Amino acid sequence: MANSNPKLSLRDLGNTGLKLSSIGFGASPLGNVFGPVSEADAIASVREAFRLGINFFDTSPYYGGTLSETMLGIALQAVGVPRNEYFVSTKCGRYGDGFDFSAERVMKSIDESLGRLKLDYVDMLQCHDIEFGDLDQIVNETIPALQKLKEMGKIRYIGITGLPLSVFTYVLDRVPPGSVDVILSYCHYSVNDTTLVDLIPYLKSKGVGVISASPLAMGLLTENGPPEWHPASPELKSACKAAAILCKEKGGNISKFALQYSLTNIEIASVLVGMNSVKQVQENVAAAVELTTTGKDERILREIEAILEPVKNQTWPSGIQKS
Ligand code: NAD
Ligand code: MG
Repeated sequence: MANSNPKLSLRDLGNTGLKLSSIGFGASPLGNVFGPVSEADAIASVREAFRLGINFFDTSPYYGGTLSETMLGIALQAVGVPRNEYFVSTKCGRYGDGFDFSAERVMKSIDESLGRLKLDYVDMLQCHDIEFGDLDQIVNETIPALQKLKEMGKIRYIGITGLPLSVFTYVLDRVPPGSVDVILSYCHYSVNDTTLVDLIPYLKSKGVGVISASPLAMGLLTENGPPEWHPASPELKSACKAAAILCKEKGGNISKFALQYSLTNIEIASVLVGMNSVKQVQENVAAAVELTTTGKDERILREIEAILEPVKNQTWPSGIQKS
């Protein structure tokens, strides 16, 4: 049942009225993006997420070439929590075979996504990784198309996602107020990169809700390390590895510290963590609960920050625009 754990707090998402769990379930791993996941593990992970109070699930037709949406749909149906007790975000414009932010494609795309998810509506539809598109098309064509989908009742709220933070201001400065409800930023509010923080006052002034994804920096801040496709530089990868080793030597776990770090900023409505096992769900919720009860270990955190200092806020290129 949703919210059986009162300690996983709910946070307001901008002006939407949605109250998201502080940890959101990133479903890209259900598309085998970080290695194979069985249907049984997918269902068990989603069931455990609900049991521990997670009410927000994020996917995209891009993840695993639609597999993430399909697996999330199977899991949501298997678990059977009432539809009004959870929130689902999916995306449009980025697909296994490339990018297409045209009105025609995104109008078709939502129907395909709803079919795979076995849902009548999604709570959020987000333009996925807009730095790969023409930002003026996003403003003039894609977002107006999403507004039609809102009127049709297929989506409740509209979002945009991307890596370079400059794409958010570009779009939000040009769309009618209130037409974009939420932004999803990733890899910019983690212990190694906090550049999202500078944008928060602007987003608040626009009434836009903030979701931050990838607190583990897409695997950099895990004991197992990142997947082979990870775009970070060798320096960033080795600094994160050194931080993970230090945590282990101190009897801790880098993922726990990294997640707690990202959860500390309550202006961020939900921190999306990619999860593909019951154990990860349990560990991550336990990290959040520990943060609100005993707090984080500031001493180890300072040591982690010292190791990461030479690569602080280092990112990587993404998209066709200059960031
Ligand atoms: P992440 O930083 O959340 O890392 C995920 C990796 O960490 C996976 O390999 C996962 O198995 C592992 N992991 C999770 N919990 C762990 C634990 N307790 N111990 C050890 N390892 C653990 O990166 P992510 O999955 O890329 O991001 C989270 C979610 O955010 C995605 O699933 C997706 O839904 C969303 N996202 C969206 C965008 C976008 O829209 N452009 C970009 C990135 C992420
Ligand atoms: Mg993504």
